[in-house]
Amino acid sequence: MSGKVYLVGAGPGDPDLLTVKALRVLRSADVVLHDDLVTPEVLALAPRSAEILNVGKRCGRKSLTQDDINGRMILAVSDGKTVARLKGGDPLIFGRAGEEIEALRASGIPFEVIPGVTAALAAAASARISLTDRRLASRLLFLAGHRSPDGRASTVREAWTRDTTIVMYMPGERVSEFARELHKAGMPSKTPCLAVSEASTPREQIHRATLEELEQAGGWPSPTLLIVGDVAATAHAGSPEQTERKSVLELAEAWLA
Ligand code: SAH
Repeated sequence: MSGKVYLVGAGPGDPDLLTVKALRVLRSADVVLHDDLVTPEVLALAPRSAEILNVGKRCGRKSLTQDDINGRMILAVSDGKTVARLKGGDPLIFGRAGEEIEALRASGIPFEVIPGVTAALAAAASARISLTDRRLASRLLFLAGHRSPDGRASTVREAWTRDTTIVMYMPGERVSEFARELHKAGMPSKTPCLAVSEASTPREQIHRATLEELEQAGGWPSPTLLIVGDVAATAHAGSPEQTERKSVLELAEAWLA
């Protein structure tokens, strides 16, 4: 048995954001098992001969159970195959990798985890903000939106301070509900927020809002994540290129004056 499973971070969507190692593994894969978040642009890098299977559960399709996924990985590896188990972003951030790692460990088959660029980092790069801009933030909280409202509200109440940047993954349909919870948890209504959809892809969208505006907002394409905190105010509205070019010229003039 010389097969192996690679739990690969497929990054946020742009294939240029794959790590060199992820690309190497993907190119040599016999079997590719991927989640819904993995973009067609990334999947296009797999060899034509590879068996490619979506094991996610969108579009009304039933997902494979975790046991099905584990079973397939183990069978393929026993056959000497290389399995790339692709997960969006980083496999270990809100990626349910825990269960897969447990099964792989229990089966004794060789496996390796390859980290990826998580969505929060891609969204920050798209909006050109520093999540930890030292003038505004010294803490970063990655929060899952799908947890029970009670759990979320208490996490925020306990953890939020003015210098915390919150990145919320999976805000889902309930962005406005979440905004109200944050407000109730003590966050000021003018707190700046960004909703970044499909970061790093040609379909990317960035919306700015205050917390109170977010209470009325929603309807963004999936996947979207929210960045909440003072650092969000440093994002450029409109075309970043134009705004930045203008201010660079102004700066240069000021320096040379
Ligand atoms: N493991 C992934 C996260 C899985 S949870 C990672 O590290 O990025 C799925 C959530 O991630 C989505 O609901 C959305 O909130 C966020 N997400 C993933 N890709 C995204 C992208 N390209 N743009 C914006 N949000 C994204």
